[in-house]
Amino acid sequence: MKEFKEVKVTKKIPTAITCNKCGKTLALTEYGLEENEFHSFNIVFPYGSMYDEERWKFDICETCLVDFVRTFKHSPGISGA
Ligand SMILES: [Zn+2]
Repeated sequence: MKEFKEVKVTKKIPTAITCNKCGKTLALTEYGLEENEFHSFNIVFPYGSMYDEERWKFDICETCLVDFVRTFKHSPGISGA
């Protein structure tokens, strides 16, 4: 059997999100639903690649993401929700 005590934990939560491409910024409420209009990327380039072991982190709004994808020669596969 375990006994518990109540503790308060401090954590960082985002208060705003900005598109790295166009600069659009949205303030985030406590529910963070506005964040759903953005997509976060965390890319790790492997050893031996052109950007050898670099890590890139950025957020892109849906408008910029769709504009980027429309430049693709081959459209991505799309599946339903
Ligand atoms: Zn954008």
